[in-house]
Amino acid sequence: MGGSGQRRVVVAGAGIPGLSLALALKQAHGPALAVTICDPGLASGTARHRGRAYAVAAGGRRMFERLGIWDAVAKAAEPIRDMAVSDSRLTDPVRPVFLTFAQDADVAPGEPFAHMVEAEPLVEALLAACAAAGVALDPVGIVAADPAGEAIALTRSDGTQETASLLVAADGARSRLREAAGIGWVGWGYPQSGIVATIGHERPHGGRAYEHFLPSGPFAILPLVAGGELGHRSSIVWTERKADVAALLGGGSDETLAEIERRFGHGFGRIVLEAGPSAHPLAFGIARRFRAERLALLGDAAHVIHPIAGQGLNLGLAGAASLAQAVTDALRLGLDPGAPDVLRAYERDRRFDTLAMGAMTDGLNRLFSTDALPVRLARDLGLGLVDRLPGLKRLFIGQAAARRGDGPRLLRGQAL
Ligand SMILES: Cc1cc2nc3c(=O)[nH]c(=O)nc-3n(C[C@H](O)[C@H](O)[C@H](O)COP(=O)(O)OP(=O)(O)OC[C@H]3O[C@@H](n4cnc5c(N)ncnc54)[C@H](O)[C@@H]3O)c2cc1C
Repeated sequence: MGGSGQRRVVVAGAGIPGLSLALALKQAHGPALAVTICDPGLASGTARHRGRAYAVAAGGRRMFERLGIWDAVAKAAEPIRDMAVSDSRLTDPVRPVFLTFAQDADVAPGEPFAHMVEAEPLVEALLAACAAAGVALDPVGIVAADPAGEAIALTRSDGTQETASLLVAADGARSRLREAAGIGWVGWGYPQSGIVATIGHERPHGGRAYEHFLPSGPFAILPLVAGGELGHRSSIVWTERKADVAALLGGGSDETLAEIERRFGHGFGRIVLEAGPSAHPLAFGIARRFRAERLALLGDAAHVIHPIAGQGLNLGLAGAASLAQAVTDALRLGLDPGAPDVLRAYERDRRFDTLAMGAMTDGLNRLFSTDALPVRLARDLGLGLVDRLPGLKRLFIGQAAARRGDGPRLLRGQAL
């Protein structure tokens, strides 16, 4: 607890899920709840997010609207109105489209199923809103956490200590706080890397996203807001065999651009590199539990999935909405926000969706990242099927968009 009986929640990790949770809690409870975000990265500003963009599903966008930051983000958010999926080899002259998402029943008519949002303005808007709401932003790490009775004692990297009712470990995939709490991790690395870059192009994308399933992995082209040297921009998420990445990216920017163009195609006119490329190791993993005594895991600290369906951050946002709701429901009844029941409610709400999404992305990646003929045939038949099965398709575009009826209130655009 903080001074004079005030409850305190400390969020370790100022990534997008951690910031969203802190903002939601502070806006809902004001002076009744002290909320602190600790992250050594806060000292170096938002530059590490530059050049990154995420597909944010409809539920995440509704939450950002409710938190009052969407207006500031909208100028850096391009609606994805349609998505085309193809299955081909690099040498194929045409890439027939197997699956489209243009009209989906899970979002309201005219509502895009996702937006491509640039990370830096999104983080800037979250930080400004947190500061305005009264969230304490501390550029330190949490290095130790010891629960004892009604509080958890926290040691910060500057050597100071504080106590809280609840610690939220939003400290990323290699979460030290998860490990220190003795929570196991089930997972594996993929023999693939995810290369991200921003591409400038001459012709407009028309709000359409593409996912080309190539034998080494998916190559996604995702529309960004207009701008840049050639007037139009897209983000690429390019999955490649790890062993090939150095050769593909090591030859200088002209060679890299030529490799990108082979995959990007010529439909967008001339292309240039606007940001990146940067390569990221890819993995699947899920924490054995999402909670320990007075500790909740959030975001990549709880789950890491393949970016094949662009859903990792969306899972983290759904987690933030769910945890904010469980804590709020407890506080409104005068109950302890770090009590086991509260954390159990959060875990129960998130566990199944997370496992389902993890299994689906892992399965899709295995199915598509191969060139074996029987598998190609099976998946080609399968893709046609996916188009006819709204349930599977819903999973592909993100459960956050699909759960209008029964998801956490914030994802439905309602107040906490
Ligand atoms: C190639 C690629 C493309 C992707 N594309 C998409 C997409 O289109 N859509 C989507 O939904 N998802 C996407 N994702 C997933 C998304 O990037 C992650 O799920 C998301 O960034 C995780 O956020 P996080 O805050 O949990 O973790 P991180 O972003 O890793 O943040 C963790 C934070 O914790 C801080 N920290 C670490 N240790 C401590 C400590 N001890 N104390 C305090 N702070 C600490 C770090 O400084 C860091 O700021 C993609 C991932 C990859 C690899």
